[in-house]
Amino acid sequence: MIIVMKKNCTREHVENIIQLLKEYGLGANLSTGSQTTIIGVLGDKTKLSDANLELMDGVEKCVPIMHSYKLASRDMVPEGRTVRVGNVTFGAKKVVMIAGPCAVENQEQILKAAEGVKAVGAALLRGGAYKPRTSPYSFQGTEEEGLKMLRRAGDETGLPVVSEVTDHEQLAFAEQYCDMFQIGARNMQNFRLLREVGRTGVPVLLKRGIASTVEEWLDAAEYIMSEGNCGVVLCERGIRTFETATRNTLDVSAVPVVRERSSLPIIVDPSHAAGKAAYVEPLALAGVAAGADGLIVEVHPNPKQALSDAAQQLTVDAYASLFHKAAEVARAVGREI
Ligand code: PEP
Ligand code: MN
Repeated sequence: MIIVMKKNCTREHVENIIQLLKEYGLGANLSTGSQTTIIGVLGDKTKLSDANLELMDGVEKCVPIMHSYKLASRDMVPEGRTVRVGNVTFGAKKVVMIAGPCAVENQEQILKAAEGVKAVGAALLRGGAYKPRTSPYSFQGTEEEGLKMLRRAGDETGLPVVSEVTDHEQLAFAEQYCDMFQIGARNMQNFRLLREVGRTGVPVLLKRGIASTVEEWLDAAEYIMSEGNCGVVLCERGIRTFETATRNTLDVSAVPVVRERSSLPIIVDPSHAAGKAAYVEPLALAGVAAGADGLIVEVHPNPKQALSDAAQQLTVDAYASLFHKAAEVARAVGREI
């Protein structure tokens, strides 16, 4: 449930309500927008049956939240949330451009990739160190060493870095090297991992599971937020459908759906949706046109030699083309890059 406050309510009115909720054993999430102040009730609202909240000073109305996710819902923060990673803000006017290789392979490769995408204009560097591979015989990632190499490349180019964590036991180490954790599609419902990243203060890029509904995805975000970490950015990366011409089917409609239902920023990953370099640019442009707050694109200094996802990684030149077109589309929809 949310408590919508009157326009002329005072600080004291707000504090009285938060105090009352505390007495009932409930938490509060305060959202002070330019138009309205909203207090989100956290916990079992049936405890409030005799509280007569609507009669309290400063209260306009009480509205139940119909979804299982609360902190992630749009009702709780109607203006939308922003998430900061280093000097970058997700959910503001700028479309955040993340780029880098699928995997960190060696120091030279990740540094070259970082320099290339930085020169094009990317704001964040990606690179997987713990790789969740479908086959146990595929390259599994450079793990701890990879994270150190990624950090060095980020520091040398001045780019914050995002990397995937696949197990809660990696967090203490990864936290020292990552500005943002990525939770991959295969782990979207790894509830232990969600809860544990929720206990860190590190912003999280939460990918959509390959067969997950928007509702399940937002419930996954809620797991992270309910532990105190509201720095969650959602990432649509394609879902599994009957179509086999692409690796996955980019669900562009998830962008407006999420923007309507959730306060969280949402970005698009055209690389894992496409599975093929030639399709990446048009899908990226579709994502920006649909209102995405950012793009995460796989870029490799030499895609043909990539140890993972070779077919879908872009050269730096191809990324530059995507980047400039995306900037034009962003302008057309009232955003910028
Ligand atoms: C990745 O980003 O390299 C990755 C493995 O993505 P996903 O979890 O979306 O498959
Ligand atoms: Mn990949």
